[in-house]
Amino acid sequence: MISRRACFRNLIQSLRTGSTASKLRSSNCYTSRTAPSLQPVVELSPDSDDEYADVDWDNLGFSLRPTDYMYITKCSGGDSFEEGHLSRYGNIELSPSAGVLNYGQGLFEGTKAYRRENGRLCLFRPDQNAIRMQAGAERMCMPSPSIHQFVEAVKQTAFANKRWIPPPGKGSLYIRPLLMGSGPVLGLGPAPECTFLIYASPVGNYFKEGLAPLNLFIDDEYHRATRGGAGGVKTITNYSPVLKALTRAKSRGFSDVLYLDSVYKKNIEEVSSCNVFIVKDNVISTPATGGTILEGVTRKSIVDIALDHGYQVKEQCIPVEEVMEADEVFCTGTAVGVAAVGSITYQGKRVEYKMGDQCVSQELFSTYMGIQKGDIEDKKGWILEID
Ligand SMILES: *Cc1c(COP(=O)(O)O)cnc(C)c1O
Repeated sequence: MISRRACFRNLIQSLRTGSTASKLRSSNCYTSRTAPSLQPVVELSPDSDDEYADVDWDNLGFSLRPTDYMYITKCSGGDSFEEGHLSRYGNIELSPSAGVLNYGQGLFEGTKAYRRENGRLCLFRPDQNAIRMQAGAERMCMPSPSIHQFVEAVKQTAFANKRWIPPPGKGSLYIRPLLMGSGPVLGLGPAPECTFLIYASPVGNYFKEGLAPLNLFIDDEYHRATRGGAGGVKTITNYSPVLKALTRAKSRGFSDVLYLDSVYKKNIEEVSSCNVFIVKDNVISTPATGGTILEGVTRKSIVDIALDHGYQVKEQCIPVEEVMEADEVFCTGTAVGVAAVGSITYQGKRVEYKMGDQCVSQELFSTYMGIQKGDIEDKKGWILEID
């Protein structure tokens, strides 16, 4: 057995020299699955060297399936994070007075690693997630990892868990970076220490509908974000307040909620965890971001693809009436991809939209997927190979 400190030195060293996860495993360097910050290093039997983890790849939904490693680093009294390390995936210790637990000082991100038909492992625009985390950290009074550190950490996490990246076409490894105020505070204020952590889970489709069109409910009672609030950043404080509207809509058979702006209560904003687009007479529109809408990486990518395909794209205010008269509606997000909306219900009225292969959303989605899979040349430098 080797000391904990030597263990992490070895881990970091092996990462620097481009080691593989199996080298990590053979370094006899494991922490327990619980509370890695306190547990002594214990020797575990190495994980199998199989190319794939033992998972039923055909039945992946969007639920947590813990993987082998997570990445963790801290920042206290300064602006820069320590060099991070991979440790066994497991519980973390927090002070009961941690800023994140008491005042919700926290952010999350979401990106995916894919396996291509040729075996290459890829990430899609992780630098965009890094930039968004920086903006969120600024808003939430936290230091943030540099773009380089963020992207490297995502790469390391994906690579160390590569046996959990599904076979081509079966899904992806969802990578979840977290930034949180982990130090203790009692009076309201920024926590004295922050933790940057990344874990991962293999996932399939986000909605239980699979690839079937979504049925959205427009809620005119609950709002997701307010002017001057933090709807434009991925702070954890934006998500539990929508659970009420979301569970109510789901219990009535809807897939998700489409929220309205909180000032006029008449313009659409977005769905609980994805952006929204409408198509009318071949013109594509999406609500303009102005601090109440999360600027999705997928949203931005789909706008670029649509412009490349010669569509007119408008980022503007979209009143509910226009949505009810649209030809097509679709949602975008890392977790959902590009999801067609089959119907929207508002104040008891249900309208249905065009769906199927001839849809604009399908055309854009197939280009987006084609770039990810490598079938379409990546002219924009969106793909980052990790192996
Ligand atoms: C994460 C998220 C999105 C989608 O962002 P992507 O970068 O495309 O994954 C959209 N809306 C909300 C509220 C989100 O949390």
